[in-house]
Amino acid sequence: MTLRVAVAGAAGRMGRTVIAAVHGDPETELVAAADVAAIGADAGELAGVGPLQIPVRDDLAAALLDSRADALVDFTRADAAHANALAALDAGVSPVIGTTGMSAEQVEEIGARAAERGVGAFLAPNFALGAVLMMVFARQAARFFPEVEIIELHHERKVDAPSGTALRTAQLILENRGERTVARPSAEDFKLAGARGGELDGIRIHSVRLPGHVAHQEVIFGGLGQTLTIRHDSIDRSSFMPGVLLACKRVRSQSGLVVGLENLLDMD
Ligand code: NAP
Repeated sequence: MTLRVAVAGAAGRMGRTVIAAVHGDPETELVAAADVAAIGADAGELAGVGPLQIPVRDDLAAALLDSRADALVDFTRADAAHANALAALDAGVSPVIGTTGMSAEQVEEIGARAAERGVGAFLAPNFALGAVLMMVFARQAARFFPEVEIIELHHERKVDAPSGTALRTAQLILENRGERTVARPSAEDFKLAGARGGELDGIRIHSVRLPGHVAHQEVIFGGLGQTLTIRHDSIDRSSFMPGVLLACKRVRSQSGLVVGLENLLDMD
């Protein structure tokens, strides 16, 4: 029995990569594709794997129903991903969400709907194994190095800032952060608004958007006479595919919403 997978955002950069990955895995089968662009195009042609006779559709709910999908992989935009996840759960389909930028309330609503419907759901701000390890290591280091800033770098067409990975990293650091003792100037004098980046509970986050990047992040810890830098680079979107496929294969056996790929991996 193969797992029947639908893809939302099928015409996008990540969606096309997911279609090729799902098609290439003997345990998964692409059964539906949805997007607001490229309606009617063959999903396989878009992904560069040849015709699959799966047209891109704009009515996700109908596509899920007709295709009897088990899981819906979503790489769209925040508001669309929220609506898509609720529609999937209402149809008994498990959402696997990679889209970033949803509000905490939107994520909570998806979690509540998943619990109510008794359908597993999964969300990861980053599906790359190296990025997950970067976040785990950053959480560990924060106990010993409470002074930390995050720099994330992405391609110029990314719409949300900071990245979901940077926010998740900051949250994990905050869970385990040692006591801060370094004195700061009583009044800081910024010559340019935003020069020190955004701030989440005292953690500065800097977002770079430039062509040539895929997804990259540095977590820089400062200590007495030393710094520790943890850096991860996704140099190709294929880096996210093993995580996406793993989540698809696990999501049906989960209860409720699980957030973070680290929860699917044996980290000991
Ligand atoms: P993209 O190339 O812009 O693709 C998104 C696609 O979704 C576009 O074709 C877009 O169409 C379409 N779309 C918009 N609204 C939709 C809707 N209601 N239903 C179906 N499709 C819809 O973006 P991307 O680079 O693939 O990234 C997509 C998301 O994934 C972003 O949030 C990004 O941050 C995230 N991401 C996550 C990971 C991870 O590991 N979790 C990794 C990489 C990227 P239009 O262009 O016409 O709006």
